Amino acid sequence: MPEPQDLTNGVKDLDFDPEALRAKYRAERERRIRPDGSAQYRHLTGESGVDDQDPYAEAEFTREPLHDRVEAVVVGGGFGGLLAGARLRQAGVEEIRVIEQGGDFGGTWYWNRYPGIHCDIESYIYLPLLEELGYVPRWKYAPGEEIRQHAQAIARHFGLYDHACFQTRVTELRWDEEQSEWIVRTDRGDEMRARYVVVSSGTLSQAKLPGIPGIETFRGHTFHTSRWDYAYTGGDASGGLTGLADKRVALIGTGATAIQVVPHLGADAAQVYVFQRTPSSVDVRGNRPTDPEWAKSLKPGWQRLRMENFLKVVTGVRQDEDLVNDAWTSSARLQEKLIPTNSYADVPAEERELAYEIADFQKMNELRSRVETIVEDPATAEKLKPWYRYMCKRPTFSDTYLQTFNRSNVTLVDTADTHGVERITEKAVVVGGVEYEVDCIIFATGFDVGRSGVLSGKLPVYGRGGVGLLETWMTKGLKTLHGFTTRGFPNLFLLGSMQNAASVNFVHILDEQASHVAEVVAQARKRQARYVEPTAEAQDAWVATIRQKAADLYKFQAECTPGYYNNEGSPRERSESYGDGPVAFHELLRRWRSEGGMREVLVENEG
Ligand code: NDP
Repeated sequence: MPEPQDLTNGVKDLDFDPEALRAKYRAERERRIRPDGSAQYRHLTGESGVDDQDPYAEAEFTREPLHDRVEAVVVGGGFGGLLAGARLRQAGVEEIRVIEQGGDFGGTWYWNRYPGIHCDIESYIYLPLLEELGYVPRWKYAPGEEIRQHAQAIARHFGLYDHACFQTRVTELRWDEEQSEWIVRTDRGDEMRARYVVVSSGTLSQAKLPGIPGIETFRGHTFHTSRWDYAYTGGDASGGLTGLADKRVALIGTGATAIQVVPHLGADAAQVYVFQRTPSSVDVRGNRPTDPEWAKSLKPGWQRLRMENFLKVVTGVRQDEDLVNDAWTSSARLQEKLIPTNSYADVPAEERELAYEIADFQKMNELRSRVETIVEDPATAEKLKPWYRYMCKRPTFSDTYLQTFNRSNVTLVDTADTHGVERITEKAVVVGGVEYEVDCIIFATGFDVGRSGVLSGKLPVYGRGGVGLLETWMTKGLKTLHGFTTRGFPNLFLLGSMQNAASVNFVHILDEQASHVAEVVAQARKRQARYVEPTAEAQDAWVATIRQKAADLYKFQAECTPGYYNNEGSPRERSESYGDGPVAFHELLRRWRSEGGMREVLVENEG
């Protein structure tokens, strides 16, 4: 057992009052809580006046409906779908069809091409399959265009363009028991058949808008950041928005997207109003070009090693070495300074919680001081300070965002007291009774996180006996084996973050999932199984494990400022994630595969 005074000493030496900070966090949270919670948002529709059209695809595109058969259909052409395709290909599956709503591969990186777009997870661990493709990204944090091109390169490398269907939305999946295959219907009149279906419909694919009164009455120009209108703004993802030189622009929202957009608007627009409800925490980014000598020195297996090291560090598995060594990992390692033992599990829960909280206060104090150091106007600096625990909102990283508020053409409008923008009129955005007249409103208001595909109700899935998947989950509760397969829905695999474990480098998580699913399919093919379907016992046992190990995030989230991390201030009491975390979950999957787990999902042919 560690000496308890290690921590007590730390607490005594603090140069701040934890109780005063707790009270400040509570007060700031109360200012922002809305009774309508998640119901405050809308989707993009013509009615809102904010277009949902794909700006990058051919508008007049048509093709003949398909009535053919492939071995595997993958729903979604983002990194999850690409990884599923790549890993299935490596497992020997030849006919793979990716069906994607956008006009090409890329998912998030297809839709989001706003100025400044970069990934703030290190590119050497975020871009998947780097060693397979023999590629090393050019920057520590890659621009969106490089990431999108890498997505296309993966598709080319694994032959995924061959059968791909773009600008196509799957409208129904229906199991045909007699043929032991899925019938896949789409909005282009297709009725294809596939033995296996993998659904990877994304977590950030449904753009959302705030339900601001009057939003549809605005007469100026308007769009969502995931549908950036370069025809209006001029320029491209690297900036140069010449079309805005004489424009007054409102940007609504200050999340991870806005942090990247604002410096470009500030540089190029005549006047910018940034409408903020909750400030993001903005840490150092420190982007730098890849050192060619370092790239040459990389030994085979380097990417997996680096991804796993990052995952361990950010999920609290102690590591002697921190390979990525950036703001994500240094924040995670703060706790170690307060709990100097080999294993957090040795420390009593209360003491551990207190240490986490103190480390969190210290981190947030540092970020609040960063605002003061950079932003010259004290009143603006005060509004930009985040008052909540570090992981209440998605952390952001920028070396240019806060600096942009020192420009004379950029104004920060705080909307916390009115719970967001109050109203939009024909020509203005209204907050606190003040009308800010603008030519253009850009919504950096995010996505309906996690609610796509099956869970959104937009992808109806009918399994054995015509039973609906979503209906089954709604009436009988969510039941899966490892989050990937469900009884009654043979040969159907779901990628995502239900009843398994996720982390910030979600592409790494998707790769582990895709590799697991591909291995199950490979075994099913090798053993000529009739189909893949979890036994009732295996599924029940997994649901029981999830319940027993569920991470207890409720208290933490209930005290957080509202946002999508905590269902706008009303967190769900029951977590559906595997409480031992992703590192343990991946190990569990490996053991399951090597120690006879296939028996729980492979249904043998009769006779
Ligand atoms: P977010 O959901 O994070 O941000 C939406 C913003 O809109 C928030 O600041 C929100 O305020 C604000 N907002 C919503 N309604 C109103 C209203 N009525 N009035 C005023 N403001 C309002 O969306 P983003 O697009 O910024 O990011 C989405 C996710 O995409 C991120 O969390 C991240 O996971 C990912 N991302 C990743 C990047 C990367 O580099 N890896 C880069 C960009 C995005 P409030 O906070 O008060 O709700």
